[in-house]
Amino acid sequence: MSTPRPSLDRVEPAGPSRRGVRDWIGLLRDRAALVVHRLVAEQRNRTGAHERILRQANGHVAILTYHRVLEDRAPTEGIEPGMFVFRSTFEAHLTALKRRFHLTSLGSVLKAPLSPSDAPMAVITFDDGWRDNMTVAWPVLARHEVPATIFLTSDYIKGGGQPDSEFMGETDVRRLARYGIEFGAHTVSHPRLTNISTLAAEEEMRRSKEMVESLTGRTCDLFAYPFGDHDAAVCRIAGSIFRGSVIVGHGWWRPGGDRTRIPRVAIHDDMTRVPAMFMERLVAAFDSTPPPV
Ligand SMILES: [Zn+2]
Repeated sequence: MSTPRPSLDRVEPAGPSRRGVRDWIGLLRDRAALVVHRLVAEQRNRTGAHERILRQANGHVAILTYHRVLEDRAPTEGIEPGMFVFRSTFEAHLTALKRRFHLTSLGSVLKAPLSPSDAPMAVITFDDGWRDNMTVAWPVLARHEVPATIFLTSDYIKGGGQPDSEFMGETDVRRLARYGIEFGAHTVSHPRLTNISTLAAEEEMRRSKEMVESLTGRTCDLFAYPFGDHDAAVCRIAGSIFRGSVIVGHGWWRPGGDRTRIPRVAIHDDMTRVPAMFMERLVAAFDSTPPPV
């Protein structure tokens, strides 16, 4: 049986690696946009704009979405830019976060009441269950003593775990759970939940929750919608099964917000390779956070 391959969770347009279409004008435009982004980010970092915005972020939580963490200089042909960061980029992210944020787990954020005066918090999450989360990301997380949450797609884990697999296997999940990694559910087959019946959507959620619980021996009350795809009906189901369900985009989490639509910030290597760009990504997301209702 071939390993199932996930589609993307990202919601932004494809970046420069989609060269099959040979859109060289688009490629140059993307490159130019990155250069401009970097210049703006460095300028705003130098002039203290990032620090000023972060001072307004007390009582808020930046929940970061990662997928894969690749070894530096690993080939990236065929991997969408939105799907990976390199190890050194990831390490730089953790170093930057530890300087300015209180790093915690998603479960802790949802359990503990936060006060508006609390320092800004950050949470690291990974979607799908890629094997490099264990082989590349985990040693970095452990060295920095940073907690993380991994959302597992059951079918990928069932087919994973071999040396040539792209996904973790059941033994890998058990091991990381013992090391303190928090696991959430990400459906069985990674469908767009708004494209299937509510009955099927509920089945996808319940069965993936059961798999995570059977592997970790702990209650699984966190969920990530594949592709961030959700509507009112899907959110209602998720709310009846999980304590908290995360989407993609829509800024930072403000405790007291809708727990069936917890926002996250998508993190890509190309947009966050230098610390100023990473911080720009985070503060721009904070600026886009909708006001409380
Ligand atoms: Zn996914």
